[in-house]
Amino acid sequence: ENGGVRLLILENISQQAVSAFRTLGFHVDHYTTAMSEKELVEKIPSYHAIGIRSKTKITSKVIAAAPKLLAIGCFCIGTNQVDLNAAAAAGIPVFNSPFSNSRSVAELVMGELVALSRQLFDRSYELRNGIWNKQSKGCWELRGKTLGIIGYGHIGSQLSVLAEAFGIRVLFYDVINIMPLGSARQVPTLTALLSEADFVTLHVPELPETTNLISTQQLKEMKKGSYLINNARGKVVDIPALVEALKSGHLAGAAIDVFPSEPGSNGAPFDDKLNPWASELRGLHNVILTPHIGGSTEEAQRMIGDEVAQALSSYLGYGSTLGAVNFPEVDLRAITAEQGTQIRICHVHRNKPGVLRQINEALSPYNVEKQYSDSKGEIAYLMADIAGVGKADVSKLQELIDATDANILTRFLA
Ligand code: NAD
Repeated sequence: ENGGVRLLILENISQQAVSAFRTLGFHVDHYTTAMSEKELVEKIPSYHAIGIRSKTKITSKVIAAAPKLLAIGCFCIGTNQVDLNAAAAAGIPVFNSPFSNSRSVAELVMGELVALSRQLFDRSYELRNGIWNKQSKGCWELRGKTLGIIGYGHIGSQLSVLAEAFGIRVLFYDVINIMPLGSARQVPTLTALLSEADFVTLHVPELPETTNLISTQQLKEMKKGSYLINNARGKVVDIPALVEALKSGHLAGAAIDVFPSEPGSNGAPFDDKLNPWASELRGLHNVILTPHIGGSTEEAQRMIGDEVAQALSSYLGYGSTLGAVNFPEVDLRAITAEQGTQIRICHVHRNKPGVLRQINEALSPYNVEKQYSDSKGEIAYLMADIAGVGKADVSKLQELIDATDANILTRFLA
């Protein structure tokens, strides 16, 4: 019954996701490129859902031009390319995939630990330039060393397990108390972590409190000869302070994947115009610089495709909003025949007093099998599974609910 539902998929989203939608019976129009606001305004009116990555901007103008739009899927981590408030006000949940690339980042850190401690990039660079320079001075095994993980969330905790498999001792610092995995140990302060770790790696989100979390003072607190790794967000490390710590020899090396300002496309320069210290950083031999590739793997892309496709189909098919970033999250199961439910009502409405009374009055002649409601800010979402309704009842109910003053968008799913 998804046959009439039209999906507009842009930016070369994984073929697997497109196939999954087609298998579920959706009509899919698939484009490899992004669309401008003007193109979208022309194209979007006939679609019920759109899948994008980071280049397509869904502005309030695009949303206003999309009377049929029910859901937006961001096949990526971030959602700031979408006007989330405008989408919520129009009753449109936005889904993304924030954690599909955690493993990829954790594995990159493992690679960086080995590369830094064995001076891999120096040796490779020298030999590429025809210089044979066999060295053991300043090169270390990881076994028995201490890794300090700042932020023990999805990535930090996976990394903890991988690092222990290498015989590394793991400490972590987090603002909340978290059950340590394996033999890892949570330390009470950032200073405690910095003063004990041979390698410090950052896995915190970008927040006002994490801006310059590592600056001159914290670098001083790190052990002489230790290493810093940042795959989190560019603003978390004060890079001029890091450059000083590397130049003075206090730090032995660093690996940096993320920067306060990053070029918008491949091939664009990474220079002092973008970040005033770029050429100084580029000139340091003991720094591994990578262009924000922490989560860039085939596996992560596939998982993002699967996860967002699943979230979109669950919402379109049976109203589950699990994983929505701008909407109350209501975790629903598919409607099954055994349940006795004939109709599922998914009612998106403005969050104001009196709505439940109005809806329950409308539903009072029927048998309500299940009901949930939740709210997030100005938006509330109510789901009711009802039995004992005929076709005529459905139209009557639809009329009654559509006429309520808080109604934004109400769907009747069977
Ligand atoms: P997460 O939300 O699962 O974990 C973050 C952890 O940091 C949480 O446990 C939180 O309590 C902790 N935290 C927050 N503020 C803190 C502070 N001031 N001090 C200490 N701990 C603090 O996030 P995640 O999925 O593990 O991702 C971590 C970071 O990695 C995010 O910034 C994300 O954007 C970034 N990331 C980068 C790449 C890349 O390509 N380099 C890919 C994925 C994620």
